[in-house]
Amino acid sequence: MIDGNLRVRLIIMAVIGAFSFFSYLGKESVNPITGERQRVSLTHEQEIAMGMRSAPEMAQQFGGLSTDPELTAVVTRVGERILARSVAARSGYPFSFHVLADRNTVNAFALPGGPIFITLALLSRLENEDQLAGVLAHEVGHVIARHSAERLAKQELTAGLTGAVVMGAGSYEMGRVAQMVGGFVTMKYGRDDELEADRLGLCLMAEAGYRPQALSGVMRILAKASGGSRMPEFASTHPSSTNRLQQIKAMLGDLPRLCQTGVARPL
Ligand SMILES: [Zn+2]
Repeated sequence: MIDGNLRVRLIIMAVIGAFSFFSYLGKESVNPITGERQRVSLTHEQEIAMGMRSAPEMAQQFGGLSTDPELTAVVTRVGERILARSVAARSGYPFSFHVLADRNTVNAFALPGGPIFITLALLSRLENEDQLAGVLAHEVGHVIARHSAERLAKQELTAGLTGAVVMGAGSYEMGRVAQMVGGFVTMKYGRDDELEADRLGLCLMAEAGYRPQALSGVMRILAKASGGSRMPEFASTHPSSTNRLQQIKAMLGDLPRLCQTGVARPL
């Protein structure tokens, strides 16, 4: 026989779990650029505001913005070319491109809603303009696919389900197990996001008249650089750069289908 206390806990657990799950399901919308059905809890305006607000803080973490106007001009020119000739322009996000003064951390990242950063360390390792286009197009891919907003919605779901398990089990240990499981889910989505950004990036490069093959060169540069202590976002552990390089090669062989009618469609 179940004691009263446990029964109450189980009911609360079921209610919290169901609430988190259904509120997650209720967030589904169709991304007009990628055509993908996705779950996000932020509006476009909130994404843009969030990115703009955190941009100065993020820049500070990488030694601030580079003071070299020529470098910034090159990165902005390549970024604008990717936008001007591609579907990204229709996304309505106010994109901006920045060079970070950090000479040690090989990295590039995008904030929600448009600000895109590349460190001097990564920029100085690139061999040609097509590779720079590859880095920027991948980051533009993260923005138009709304990966930050998706991750946020998933975190809310994970937090809700973890809370439900803690309530049900009534023990801290079980809560930790649940959190670990949640961590694996988040990691998996991270890998999918990277591959989707690679795929979108390749299509954007092709549309802008850059050589999509150059993204393979970027992967090789990143694999070499990831021997350092700080893992670059681009070569983040999942998937490994070699695995990713293979995936990119497979995508390159199938670009016309992957990028049909100028819209980067989901697989
Ligand atoms: Zn990425």
